[in-house]
Amino acid sequence: MPHVRYATAAAPGRANEDYVIAGPSWVALFDGATAPPGVRSGCVHDVRWLVRTLASGVAARVDGGEPLADVLADAIAATMSRHAGTCDLANPDSPSATAALARLRGDRLDYLVLCDSAIGLAHPGGGVTVVRDERLDRLPGGRPYSVELVRSLRNRPGGFWVASTCPAAAGRALAGTVDAAGLEGVALFTDGVTRLADWYGRTWDELVAGARDPEALIAEVRRRERALGPVRGKQHDDATAAWMSFP
Ligand SMILES: [Zn+2]
Repeated sequence: MPHVRYATAAAPGRANEDYVIAGPSWVALFDGATAPPGVRSGCVHDVRWLVRTLASGVAARVDGGEPLADVLADAIAATMSRHAGTCDLANPDSPSATAALARLRGDRLDYLVLCDSAIGLAHPGGGVTVVRDERLDRLPGGRPYSVELVRSLRNRPGGFWVASTCPAAAGRALAGTVDAAGLEGVALFTDGVTRLADWYGRTWDELVAGARDPEALIAEVRRRERALGPVRGKQHDDATAAWMSFP
């Protein structure tokens, strides 16, 4: 049987807008986008509701043989139906989340990455294949982005794709299937952890090795954040890491 470990930690003093869920042969994580101050989302729910509802939608479907993009599209559609009666799903600021999914199916590993969560495939003896969706990093004009720019490019061709009110976004995720026999395991991270590589000089090999002890990896994130501060944005972010090893 595969073995799954994970840890998730809120940014100190805040509610955790990340969410992680796993079954015997799969793991999925979500990172809810913090609502910008003053923006009306048209939704009576918060992003914590969104990530939990998406997670339950994935859990309900992931054990079938459907492609992960279809599983996620169905979870987005099911989530929409849960609040279509109370909320304005046409609002472009409706709550949104990233997603990363991995599922072992026989001797095959399916994976999917949507927006700025990431996956690392660990090869025996070292070496990592990193799966990252960098479209949010490449919006026109570069960072910092205005609320208007993000709104205009969310779930639009030429922009970036997230789980929110557009099931078709799942079809724009980075997804694939590989031979699990050629891997030691798979690591999943939200961007609260990948800042170790993006900001603090750790290699992806080190990140994926560290995912085998996800609590320790997140503790390292907090130590570096306190010692070195942020490169941009928040000093601390919600941080989630998961590791699934194969039999
Ligand atoms: Zn809502």
